[in-house]
Amino acid sequence: MSENKINRRDVCKTLLAFGGLMLGGLTAKGQTPTPTPVPASDILEDQRIADAVKRRATMEEIAKLRDPVAGSPQEALRALKTGNARFFSGSARRPELSAAERRAQILGQTPFAVVLSCTDSRVPTEIVFDQSLGSLFITRVAGNVVETGTTGSIEYAVNHLKTHLVVVLGHEGCGAIKAALLPAEERAKETPSIQALLNQIVPSVSKIPKIRDEKAKLREAVVANVRQQVANIKKEPAIQKAIASNKINVVGAFYEITSGAVDFFETDEDLRIAQTAYDSCSWRTHLEAV
Ligand SMILES: [Zn+2]
Repeated sequence: MSENKINRRDVCKTLLAFGGLMLGGLTAKGQTPTPTPVPASDILEDQRIADAVKRRATMEEIAKLRDPVAGSPQEALRALKTGNARFFSGSARRPELSAAERRAQILGQTPFAVVLSCTDSRVPTEIVFDQSLGSLFITRVAGNVVETGTTGSIEYAVNHLKTHLVVVLGHEGCGAIKAALLPAEERAKETPSIQALLNQIVPSVSKIPKIRDEKAKLREAVVANVRQQVANIKKEPAIQKAIASNKINVVGAFYEITSGAVDFFETDEDLRIAQTAYDSCSWRTHLEAV
C-alpha cells in the first residue's frame, strides 16, 4: 500500500474528527451537519478570482489565477479520494465556476485525471468525485470497456492534456456486467451491437468463481472486469511510456451506489488478474464460493 493511499476508513476518521458527521450525511438526533472545512488556499483562490472579475480582468488573467488541482499522479488520486469522501459523507461542495471563469475555459482545458466509466445514469463521474467543470476528462461506455474510441480518448488526455491519472471506474449493480454473465444463448437474443459490447466483457468475467449470493457475484465480476480493463490500458505503448516517466498512474475503482463510496485498486496485488476461479475470489472468504 502506498504512503499516499487514503482508504475509506481513514477518510471516515478524518471526517468524524472534523465535524462528527455520520456516513450518508445523517447526524445524531437534533444535530446540524457540519460540512468539511474548505481549505484556506481555496478561499484565497476564490477571493483572487472574485477580485479579478471585479476589476474586469481578461479571460487569460482569470484562467491563470486558478491553482492546478493536482500536479502528480499521487495528488490526482488524493483529489479524487477527498472529493468522493465529501460526496459520500453528505458534504459535497458541488463546485461551480463563475461566469467569468466559465468564459476563461475557452482558452483551454487542464483536466487532472481521465476516467473510463460506465454509461449508467447513477454514476455521474464529476458528481461522485465532487469535481468542477474542466477537472475530469471522461470517456463513458457501457461496462467501461477499453476499445478503439475509449483508448484513443485516454491517449489524447495523457499525451495532449497533461493528465496525471487514468481511472477505470466500475460500479455496483452494473447492467452490462450482469448481461455479460448470462448464458450465451441469452446474450444471442440481443442486437449485434449489444452482443459486440458484451463480447468485450465476457472474457474478463468468465473466470469468477461460482458465488451463491447474486450481489457478491456481480461485484466480483465488476471488479474482475475493472482489473482486465486496467491491464488492457497498460498494454498500450503510449501509456507504458507515460507510466515509465512517472507522468501518470493507471488505477481501478469500484463505485458503490448504495453508500456513494469509491474503493480504489492501486497496487499490483489489488489489480492482479485471476488465473483461475478460486484465485479470483480475493475479496471475500472462500466460504461463500460453492
Ligand atoms: Zn454499468
